[in-house]
Amino acid sequence: MREFEYLRPEDVGAAVTLVSERPAAQYLAGGTTQVDLMLKDGILDPDRVVDITRLPLRGVTTDGRALRVGALTTMEEMAADPTVAVRLPLVRTALLAGASTQLRNMATIGGNLLQRTRCRYFRDPTVPDCNKRHPSSGCAAIIGAGARMHAVLGAGESCIALHASDLCVPLVALDAVVHIRGTDGERTVPLTDFYLLPGERPDVETVLRHGDLITAVEVPLPPEAVRSGYLKVRDRASYEFALVSVAAAVTVADGTVTEARIGLGGVGTIPWRARAAERVLTGAPATPETYRAAAEAELRNAFTVPGTAFKPELARRTVVRALTDIVGDLP
Ligand code: FAD
Ligand code: SF4
Repeated sequence: MREFEYLRPEDVGAAVTLVSERPAAQYLAGGTTQVDLMLKDGILDPDRVVDITRLPLRGVTTDGRALRVGALTTMEEMAADPTVAVRLPLVRTALLAGASTQLRNMATIGGNLLQRTRCRYFRDPTVPDCNKRHPSSGCAAIIGAGARMHAVLGAGESCIALHASDLCVPLVALDAVVHIRGTDGERTVPLTDFYLLPGERPDVETVLRHGDLITAVEVPLPPEAVRSGYLKVRDRASYEFALVSVAAAVTVADGTVTEARIGLGGVGTIPWRARAAERVLTGAPATPETYRAAAEAELRNAFTVPGTAFKPELARRTVVRALTDIVGDLP
């Protein structure tokens, strides 16, 4: 680790300038990802660290149509918000299923969107072949034995690293929008367009340009009649990343699914919007057979290695169970 300059601006524009003007500068929010990667793993090596925790980007507001969550709101603060509790139970469940209470009190919403993969080869600087750290160097996970927590959707020969966020799974299903401040002003990007598939460039993970700052996330509030939930399957009951997770918001009328929004976690190189499953569900009877067909459609093109071969079937079963629980018994 080299020495770095530490700065703590109180103005959003100043923070953007301080990172933009220095190619190796990086932001620091709650630090639960950034500090590990810098100080424990030795993967990140910024020469300037811009601490953004004094920026006025904290808090949750609503206009009755959508929720606006400042990027520096912590995961615990968002989970405790009354509108989240009543109108977005799938978001609240996903937040509280993530990490631990201590971490959630530090971890911010902006940082959660930008958390880096937990791929053990990515986080081990002694492993030379990692396309995400060193483009065109290969992928140790594909040939290694430690690929249990890796992705099967959006994955390929170049990289199978998982995006491990729980929060992003319901957010992607609900069409959340990311607010960004860059050197050329403010812009918004739908979360479904925010992440990039690894393709030939696993090192480029999002549409952000160097210096871009996430200022807020906007979450449309679903209609009150929607049935929704978040189901996380993991190796132990708490403080563990998902093997598979499902966020669903479903409207059912007279036994037929009229609208379905599905997000998958634990399986995608990006938070996964399950559009193929949604197409099968919409207009079909709300039955376990339909749910299974929807899951089959989404997992049809899964890319597996020996360590992840169990995941497509686990994902199918989790989709069926989540939808069965969420929709419940129909009259
Ligand atoms: P930081 O660590 O400060 O930053 C993360 C990255 O985002 C850095 O690259 C930083 O430069 C960038 N950044 C931060 N904020 C902004 C911004 N506003 N604009 C632009 N760039 C920004 N997450 C889950 O979803 N589920 C889990 O089960 C889970 N378990 C965990 C278990 C452990 C042991 C740990 C350490 C983490 C776990 N996490 C889990 C991840 C955790 O939620 C993230 O580490 C956290 O949300 C990151 O937020 P932060 O504020 O600490 O970000
Ligand atoms: Fe690197 Fe991606 Fe392969 Fe992990 S899966 S070793 S992050 S290229």
